[in-house]
Amino acid sequence: MDSIEKVAEEVRGCTLCALAKGRKLAVPGEGPANPPIMLIGEGPGFHENEQGRPFVGPAGKFLEALLGAIGFRRSEVFIANVVKCRPPNNRDPLPGEIGACDPYLQRQIELLDPKIIVTLGRYSMAKFFPGQTISRIHGQSRLRDGRFVIAMYHPAAALHNPRLRTVIEDDFKKVGDLLNQLESQVEPPVREEPDQLRLF
Ligand code: URA
Ligand code: SF4
Repeated sequence: MDSIEKVAEEVRGCTLCALAKGRKLAVPGEGPANPPIMLIGEGPGFHENEQGRPFVGPAGKFLEALLGAIGFRRSEVFIANVVKCRPPNNRDPLPGEIGACDPYLQRQIELLDPKIIVTLGRYSMAKFFPGQTISRIHGQSRLRDGRFVIAMYHPAAALHNPRLRTVIEDDFKKVGDLLNQLESQVEPPVREEPDQLRLF
């Protein structure tokens, strides 16, 4: 049977694309089973490549603050990336690399079954909203395969840009609001059918 641990093991030994050559540690992603929120970034940077963990540099600090503002610790959400190995000099991942790595991300999504997926930056957005632009759809929740997906700017882009910072802070609050709505949704009452009811 497939599992999150199995995906992580395969990622750590993966050589399916050229990014395997330059990495120190692959970064499979981390977090609890069945999380309310799954965050999907772009790919490991310098610090992530050193530690084998996602978002542990400056962008990660900001991400933790954003999560804190809606009442979550990072250990309560799952954090993953589109590519699991660091592109050289933090260049953008290539289409072939994204394609090679996508089955890992897809398995993670299916195994975790999060209530909400938050995409961070344009590469994870493109998986769910091909052809869209972040400036157009950021902060909007849309259903994809039966779950809500919300696109956001990448926290690294917002880190030193006060305008984007405000935008991403507001967008994160919408994630909090949506979760509250989903959690307060009462199951529709099951209607009991009388056993012997027959219509002749
Ligand atoms: N940026 C990303 O997109 N992912 C990380 O894990 C760290 C920084
Ligand atoms: Fe494998 Fe993904 Fe790393 Fe490429 S980026 S080597 S596909 S784990």
